[in-house]
Amino acid sequence: MTQSCEVAIVGSGFAGSLLARVLAVLGYDVVLLERGTHPRFAIGESSTPLANLSLERIGLRYALADCYNLATHGRWLAHFPELRRGLKRGFTFYRHHPDKPFANRGFDSERLLVAASPHDSLSDTHWLRADVDHHFVREAIGAGVDYRDRVDVTSANVASDSVRLNGSRNGTAFELRASFLIDASGPGGFLARQISLPSAVERTVTRSGLVFSHFDGVRLMNDVAPGMPEGPYPDDWAAVHHLIDEGWMYSLRFDDGVTSAGFLLTPSGLRSMKPSETGDAEALWRALLERYPTLASAFAEATPLMPIAFRPAIQHRLTRAAGERWALMPHTYAFVDPLFSTGIAWSLRAIERLALAFESTLHNRRVPDIAVLTRYDALLSAEADQIDLLVAGAYQAMAQFDLFVAHAMLYFATVAFAEVRERLAPDESSAWKGFLGVGDPVLEPLPRESLRRLRRITQSCGEVGTSRERGGFADWITNAIAARNIAGLSNPARHNLYPVDFDALVERHELLGMSRDQLVTALPALRGNSTVITTGPRLKGAAVAGGR
Ligand SMILES: Cc1cc2nc3c(=O)[nH]c(=O)nc-3n(C[C@H](O)[C@H](O)[C@H](O)COP(=O)(O)OP(=O)(O)OC[C@H]3O[C@@H](n4cnc5c(N)ncnc54)[C@H](O)[C@@H]3O)c2cc1C
Repeated sequence: MTQSCEVAIVGSGFAGSLLARVLAVLGYDVVLLERGTHPRFAIGESSTPLANLSLERIGLRYALADCYNLATHGRWLAHFPELRRGLKRGFTFYRHHPDKPFANRGFDSERLLVAASPHDSLSDTHWLRADVDHHFVREAIGAGVDYRDRVDVTSANVASDSVRLNGSRNGTAFELRASFLIDASGPGGFLARQISLPSAVERTVTRSGLVFSHFDGVRLMNDVAPGMPEGPYPDDWAAVHHLIDEGWMYSLRFDDGVTSAGFLLTPSGLRSMKPSETGDAEALWRALLERYPTLASAFAEATPLMPIAFRPAIQHRLTRAAGERWALMPHTYAFVDPLFSTGIAWSLRAIERLALAFESTLHNRRVPDIAVLTRYDALLSAEADQIDLLVAGAYQAMAQFDLFVAHAMLYFATVAFAEVRERLAPDESSAWKGFLGVGDPVLEPLPRESLRRLRRITQSCGEVGTSRERGGFADWITNAIAARNIAGLSNPARHNLYPVDFDALVERHELLGMSRDQLVTALPALRGNSTVITTGPRLKGAAVAGGR
């Protein structure tokens, strides 16, 4: 049976489904092919302000009210209480040391909290991906996407005028001809195998393995390490990062009490485990907890909701992200490590870019031209490098908490500046702005330079460097981000507890090229004092409402 469509998308995670739906809304004839079925487990759950900004823009531009409403915890609860999610007020970090409980030293604790939202209702969320991805698939079908699950796509032939896919479903062979193919199949790299796209993973500096599951009964850090100074939000309602000698652990709490947790382990961290501890994923999990008493207390009563799994290496990277008649979604193209929760935001921005590319060719070729695809490829390549350098620097700094905190300021300054700028001047060029400072002459070089400096410090004088070297590094970071530091970061008076600081923002109005009065007038757009969108008609061109 031969069929045809304009756009074929392989993989129905949220990225494939949402892009399929946007293209269908634009008027394209879209087929979405999935090898599994929904609902299904998926990892990659913690959203960020930049992710939600993209989701809001997509909601507004294509009249997808659910996207807009899923972009803050408050709107999500009001409109989709049945989709499971967790409140994420910011990023929490602790440094643990082997065989010692986490030390509560008041304001001198090895603890960093950076708020991403001023209050709960505007907060980011952890996405229970089984629910969220299923929602996006259902909405795609509702928008007219031809969705086929349990499909085995066995080959793809990319020619200059079309793409031919062959496969089978329920034992019946099919052939699908498409004008354009989007690979949203994730790390498996479906198209890469078909067209022999080489791996470029050697370009990635970061190396880590992963042991993970979902758990019931995880105790709060505030219970197992009580009495710490009050932070800008309750510590656990965040993406919680526990830094350890072997790497780090994430802990993401959903509102129903389930916690997604995993250890990311460096090659040397893995080597430090005894053979008896690495026999299976569960043994590895238990051995790691046993080394860190406060984590052991937090997980003492926890039960895994599915078998604990282990992946010895999670990085992947391909040599190209697009070509004539095809494009890869970011997670198919490259992945580094979840340290700064970059995946969802990056994927949503790519959806915006590809949607705009199809929108601009709607009334002529109906397929993005090679110039726009080359631009997409170049941006994704630079962004994958940038994510990697930022994460690699963080791993380099992990041995000493003050070094880590200083380096993390680079990430927070970069995303805070991008968020405020995009909120204050919302237009379609935001989607094509480089992610994580790519294209910004001040910010783009910093992750590479930071990594270089960190290597020099941590390799010259033992892992942690001297206090003079570390102080020098923190000063360098403070100066390096000064021209973009609208959020009042890198401020010792804050004791590593950073709220969303509108006063600092107003004070630094010039960094955004605005007068004080202009910025004060624009503040409601950042504080979220505006109307909620619930509508059906197309909202293209409507002013951005809401935000934080
Ligand atoms: C350990 C870990 C933690 C992470 N944490 C975060 C985080 O906290 N925040 C964040 O922003 N990002 C995080 N990420 C990244 C995040 O997981 C990805 O950005 C996100 O999953 C991308 O979604 P997607 O829809 O592109 O792909 P996926 O979710 O991978 O979906 C791919 C889909 O394609 C289907 N498929 C695969 N092969 C085929 C085939 N041959 N034919 C048909 N269908 C196929 C699969 O069944 C699946 O449904 C994390 C990643 C990892 C590995």
